[in-house]
Amino acid sequence: MFSFSKFFLASSLEEAYTELLKNKKNIILGGTSYLRMGNTPWNTGIDLSNLNLNYISETEEFINIGAMTTFRQLETNILLKDFFGDIFNVALRDIIGVQFRSNVTVGATVFSKYGFSDLIPVLLSLDAKVKLFNGGILSLEDFLNEQNIRKDILVEILIPKKYCKTSFQCVRKSKTDYSIINLAICNFNNKITIAVGSRPGKAMLAKKTMAILNLSENIEKEIVNAMKHIGDEIPLDSNMRGSKSYRELLLSALLRKGIQEVLN
Ligand SMILES: Cc1cc2nc3c(=O)[nH]c(=O)nc-3n(C[C@H](O)[C@H](O)[C@H](O)COP(=O)(O)OP(=O)(O)OC[C@H]3O[C@@H](n4cnc5c(N)ncnc54)[C@H](O)[C@@H]3O)c2cc1C
Repeated sequence: MFSFSKFFLASSLEEAYTELLKNKKNIILGGTSYLRMGNTPWNTGIDLSNLNLNYISETEEFINIGAMTTFRQLETNILLKDFFGDIFNVALRDIIGVQFRSNVTVGATVFSKYGFSDLIPVLLSLDAKVKLFNGGILSLEDFLNEQNIRKDILVEILIPKKYCKTSFQCVRKSKTDYSIINLAICNFNNKITIAVGSRPGKAMLAKKTMAILNLSENIEKEIVNAMKHIGDEIPLDSNMRGSKSYRELLLSALLRKGIQEVLN
C-alpha cells in the first residue's frame, strides 16, 4: 500500500501546482486506485477534490471533461452519448465493477499514459486535446508521443464536438481483465480515425491504414486491404496477456468488425 506523510487539500490549481513542485516525492491524488497498487512512500499527497474538476460540459467547440471526472460518469453521460454514441460506455463498462469505475479518474489515467488503457484510444480516435495547468493545451497525440514525464497537472480533456459513428473493440481473457488489444474507431462524415491500444504499448493512431480507407471512394471495398496493412503499421509486442502474433490476428479481425460497425 502506498503512503504519504502529509496531506494537502488544494484550494486552487495554482496552490496545487506550487505544492507539487516543492518536492519530487509530492504527488497529485486522483481516485488513488492505481497508487494503492504500489508501495511507494510519498511525501505530500495533493488532493484536487475541492477544485470543481468533476464535470462534463460543453462550449461552442468542445465537450470539456474535468480531470476528477470518474469513469462511471463518462460511461453514463448523455452528452457524450449524443455526440459519440456508446463508445465510452462500451469501452469502460467491463473495467472491474461500478464501485471501481465510480472512483478512478480521467485526469490520472490520461496523464499516466497507461499502455493498457481502454479510455485513451477512445479519446485519441475522437481527436481529443489535453489541458495542462503549466503546459497549456496540446493534442492528446502529441502529449502521448512525449518521452519525458512532465511535472504538471492535467486539468481538462477537450473533445471537438462532432456527431460521429464510433466503435470500440477489444479482447479480454475474462470480463474484468486488461484488454489484450483494443481499437477505437470514429467515422465523421466518412473520414475514419483509428486508434490502437494495449499493443501492449501506448495507444497510437493507425495513420497509414486511415489514409487507405479515407482516400478510397468505397471504404467497404478497402477493408481487406486495410486489414493486411494495419499489422505492418502498428508495432505490436508480446507480454503475459498475449503474444505478438496473437495480437496481429486479433487486430486485423477487430478492424474489420469495427469498420463495419461505423459504416452501418
Ligand atoms: C486493479 C486495476 C485494474 C485496472 N483495469 C483497467 C482496465 O481493464 N482498463 C483500463 O483502461 N484501466 C484499468 N485500470 C486503470 C484505471 O482505470 C485508472 O486508469 C487508474 O486507476 C488511474 O486512475 P486513478 O484515479 O486511480 O489514479 P491515481 O492512482 O490517483 O493516480 C495515478 C497517477 O496519476 C497521477 N495523477 C492523478 N491525477 C492527476 C492529474 N489530474 N494530473 C496529473 N497527474 C495526476 C498520480 O499522481 C499518480 O501518479 C485498472 C486499475 C487498477 C488499479
